[in-house]
Amino acid sequence: MAELTPMMRQYHEAKARYPDAILFFHLGDFYETFFEDAEIVARELEIALTQRDGHPMAGVPVRKADVYIQRLLKKGFKVALCDQLERPGPGKKLLKRGVVRVLTPGTVLEEEGLEAETDAFLLAFLREGGCIGLAWCEVASGEFWVAEIREDELEQVISRLGIREVLMPQGIEVPSFVPGVRTELPLSAFSERFLWERFGSLPLLKEKPLASRAAGAVLTYLRETLHSVEHLTPPKPWGLVDSIELDFFTQRGLELTEPLRPESKITLFSVLDHTKTPMGKRLLRRWLLHPLRDRGAIEERLEAVEALAGSWELEELGEALRSTCDLPRLLGRIGVGRASPLDLALLRRTFRALPRIVEILRNLPRRASLLEADLSTVEEAPLDIADELERFLADSPPPNPEDGGLVREGYSPQLDALRKKAAELRGAIASLERRERERTGIPTLRVSYNQVLGYFFELTKPHLPKVPAEWRRRQTLKGVERFTSPELESLADELAQAEARAKELELSLYERVLERIRGELPRLRRLGEALAEVDVLRSLAAAAQKYGWQRPRFTGSPRIIIREGRHPMVERICDFVPNDLAMDEKIKLAVVTGPNMAGKSVFLRQVALIALLAQMGSFVPAKEAELPIFDKIYTRVGATDALSGGLSTFMAEMREAATILAGATERSLVILDELGRGTSTYDGMALAWAIARYLVERVGCKTLFATHYRELTRLAEEIPGVVNLHAAVREWKGEVIFLHRVIPGVSERSYGVQVARLAELPEDVLREAERMLEHLEREEKKARSRQKKGHQLALPFYTPESHPLVEELRKLSPERLTPLEALELLFRWKERWGGR
Ligand code: ADP
Repeated sequence: MAELTPMMRQYHEAKARYPDAILFFHLGDFYETFFEDAEIVARELEIALTQRDGHPMAGVPVRKADVYIQRLLKKGFKVALCDQLERPGPGKKLLKRGVVRVLTPGTVLEEEGLEAETDAFLLAFLREGGCIGLAWCEVASGEFWVAEIREDELEQVISRLGIREVLMPQGIEVPSFVPGVRTELPLSAFSERFLWERFGSLPLLKEKPLASRAAGAVLTYLRETLHSVEHLTPPKPWGLVDSIELDFFTQRGLELTEPLRPESKITLFSVLDHTKTPMGKRLLRRWLLHPLRDRGAIEERLEAVEALAGSWELEELGEALRSTCDLPRLLGRIGVGRASPLDLALLRRTFRALPRIVEILRNLPRRASLLEADLSTVEEAPLDIADELERFLADSPPPNPEDGGLVREGYSPQLDALRKKAAELRGAIASLERRERERTGIPTLRVSYNQVLGYFFELTKPHLPKVPAEWRRRQTLKGVERFTSPELESLADELAQAEARAKELELSLYERVLERIRGELPRLRRLGEALAEVDVLRSLAAAAQKYGWQRPRFTGSPRIIIREGRHPMVERICDFVPNDLAMDEKIKLAVVTGPNMAGKSVFLRQVALIALLAQMGSFVPAKEAELPIFDKIYTRVGATDALSGGLSTFMAEMREAATILAGATERSLVILDELGRGTSTYDGMALAWAIARYLVERVGCKTLFATHYRELTRLAEEIPGVVNLHAAVREWKGEVIFLHRVIPGVSERSYGVQVARLAELPEDVLREAERMLEHLEREEKKARSRQKKGHQLALPFYTPESHPLVEELRKLSPERLTPLEALELLFRWKERWGGR
């Protein structure tokens, strides 16, 4: 390789320290990338690849770098910014440069394009001796949590956090369901020492050693990339047991934050969300994904929602909240030392909104302990900071403190004097211009300013002879000549000095104010938390008011009574038929039958959604709802290809069923929609039967089971604790009309052919299907009457003498089987008799 230029040597030194990041090398107005980096950048950003001294180079303008960096981060790359650390000037050949910041998907700050409305966590993962230590941090705001969990709890925790990047020790496997870009760190980074160094001795260090070590890795990594960990809060232990379990399938099936079909935009979150601030949005999402288990805590929220829903000033409160800022992230920026004067203006605006918020909260018609706690936090806000900001900050400060004009007049007499002086000097220069114009008799003479020359006289060529002798020529351009004079020079010098001193003073005053704010970070953080909570509670109240939702009741009994329940999302998009559900203490299972499209699925989900809303502390779409407190909610809505990840639909379904059978307790709610579809009718039905029975007899949870295997409705005759419901339809002139009413009893027929007619199948096909159906029904009737004369059977569709499976079933004692054995048995049967 040819001899390296000093600059390229500088480049290679920097790159060697950050080998896994794309190095953006600041060169004048551009960030340049070289070698392989340049090839990646050119390819990923679709920009031109050029050559410099025979090696590849690609660059982006510094001013637009953010956009490009965002795109690289989205694709999972990291970017190291190697900036010029001094200003170019005469005589300087090689500028000092250094990496000031490494941007990674999990460490971006708001002004770097981070979305305001979702969490973006950086997670550290450590596994040792069957235990997992986790630490996660929202880098933008500095909020920090830790947990120590078992392997089987991992998915639970992870699937509800917005994780962008995962730090892990080299060579460790992190399960693929954990999202985010992987970053390997040496095991030595996972040391609790770093936690201790930053926060001193926390109880955590003793109680959760693995989590403490994970937290240590977060700190190491942020030191390396963000060059600051000052803004982090001490890590809070995460309480897994505080919230009910909602696994990934349940979150998806209930469309909590993502629609099942991408073209539909509507989710439970979108329906609920009436928040006015980004911090409120993020908190609402967290509440939604972590419904509570503690009745007292739920009632506290409901109390607050009720108090707000009864306020005349709900809208005004929203308006006041709207003018507050995203306090957690703003404080994060202040903590990291990246705040701008505009951030101070946002903080001032937030303070200005507080009196109105306090007034509304004080005037609520009803008391609620959560709101009272929030109110007192808001009242305890550091108002001296508010005062200081009012006195200090100009009405519209510049984005950059160096631009000047950020301090309000009257704040500092010294600064005012310097500004006055500067103004006088500018006046003097203006009058000098007038005087010289008269004296020289050059009517077009003017004084101008630019960065290179400073102040100068400018005149056109024909006036050259009139230029006084003491003027000095500075520059000759086409058509104009530029001069200076001793008097102008001395005025300009004085002005430059006054301005420089004013700027310096402004910056030091600015720094002092920031310092004061930093001193109040804990109180300001609490203020942010209180405002976010008020925002979320207000949002829940606004939703309740707007949609006519009611406060749910918890009685401590395992009874579900829902009167005129609705599906919160479906009711937004159609004329909705409300439905009731009553399951008393003894009823464990409701088998819901009915033709396709009759509304089974909507009904099932609406029950789960009502339970979930209630436990997050929200009102619910029902006239009346009395509910137990569930510990887990499971929802299976038929495995879809996307979810099964390479497994056959059947296998995926059975795996999920196995999870539920193993995990559900007496206090769980289980929603099964069309389980057993992925296999032949008989297997499907047999499995559905066995699973339903197990849930009733062994688990004792509340289960709603939608099926079009009508045979399952016989469970109600076989075992206690089962009721049949069906989604009613009416036949009219050969067509089926869906009433969308779920009522007790068994659905008469499946109306498959009629539903198919609605789907506009050719009439020939429909007629042939009808003929075949009649034949089958006749056959079934015959079989039944034969059977009635013979034995009583659980599964009515085999003739007893004809099948060895029946013999096996007879010998079997299901109550002695574990779920796994039952499954194995079923698989064996399936293999032997299942055919396909
Ligand atoms: P199934 O599960 O019985 O096949 P769905 O529950 O998917 O049927 O319902 C089919 C469609 O019927 C839904 O997409 C919805 O538009 C409509 N629907 C269901 N329940 C109701 C209801 N209670 N009120 C109004 N429309 C409903």
